[in-house]
Amino acid sequence: MSFDRSLARCSFCGRRPPEVRRMVAGPGAAYICEKCLQTCNEILDDPTPFSAKALELASRPPVVIAAPQLQEQDLPSIPYEPVRTIKLELEQKQQGMTLMLYELQFYQKHFELHYLWIRPPFPAGFAFVPRLIFLVKDNTGAEWAGDRGGMMKTRPELVSDPNLVVYQGSARFRPLPSSEAQTLTVRAANPLGQFEGPAPDLWKFEITL
Ligand SMILES: [Zn+2]
Repeated sequence: MSFDRSLARCSFCGRRPPEVRRMVAGPGAAYICEKCLQTCNEILDDPTPFSAKALELASRPPVVIAAPQLQEQDLPSIPYEPVRTIKLELEQKQQGMTLMLYELQFYQKHFELHYLWIRPPFPAGFAFVPRLIFLVKDNTGAEWAGDRGGMMKTRPELVSDPNLVVYQGSARFRPLPSSEAQTLTVRAANPLGQFEGPAPDLWKFEITL
């Protein structure tokens, strides 16, 4: 598959080649510039799970690039039925927002956490995509970070209070927990918290497997 490299833009910040010294090409239309690589290095050097830099990177609006179109027959057909589903009824309120974890789904090679995020609507003109980032740890010390999974959907039919918005989302983690894993500790942060208030919201839940 070919892609016109003159259209290159950093997938993390949107800068174009004249604005950066180096641009590293990834697969398809993906690129990263040396400034964003520098930021990634700083994130890797910072032991805190939700460092300010990591939250800043996660909260950037997506860079839209005319990506090469995959033909329908090129897409792998993945069986999308969970092997096992654990129903959850976990709910926590932080700074006027509620995070509800309602399902943990196990697939052949990954697991997914499904949630509802109930919060006041973003102010008009707010440029960022709503999202939560997760950090998961099990009782054996294994850790999974950050995968944000699919897009969040608004679920207007679930709203009972006109001052709130309900977002439905999921986060995907790989690999599966080992057979010794009995509990998962899930921490979640709203990366936009830094723009909306003093500190990012942190939720913490315990799940028994
Ligand atoms: Zn960049």
